[in-house]
Amino acid sequence: MADLSIRLVPDPVLRVVCAPVTEFDAALAELTTGMLAAMYAAPGRGLAAPQFGVASRVFVMDTTWKDADPTPQIFINPEMVDCADDVAIWEEGCLSIPDRTIRVARPASVTLRWQGVDGAPQTGTFTGFAAACTQHELDHLDGVLCTDYPEAP
Ligand SMILES: [Zn+2]
Repeated sequence: MADLSIRLVPDPVLRVVCAPVTEFDAALAELTTGMLAAMYAAPGRGLAAPQFGVASRVFVMDTTWKDADPTPQIFINPEMVDCADDVAIWEEGCLSIPDRTIRVARPASVTLRWQGVDGAPQTGTFTGFAAACTQHELDHLDGVLCTDYPEAP
């Protein structure tokens, strides 16, 4: 069975600025399959590649599976292309920072551009908890953790 363990602070891989994905090959598909398995097993709603020990610009997310059928989403080379002026505060946890949550203020909605595992370009707008989750996971790809933010009131 694959190693589904999740890296915890202060593992240095969590502080790396991750490299873009250039090869859309079987190894990438295997990585995302493993990351989704680890995320569901944790259990969590988002997981970035560095949390899985891989310094690549990849994250996976499923913000609804705890309440509905699984809808796994895979983001390769994600970038934020737009965000709302208004701010929302969510209580965030991180699979790499056990037993800790922090209230973080972030743009209430974001539009991302990314690639699928096949390299196909995609865009999407995320609101509510998914907006916070995508920003949290994007931060991981730049070595930023939610606990780096000041606690929101
Ligand atoms: Zn996290």
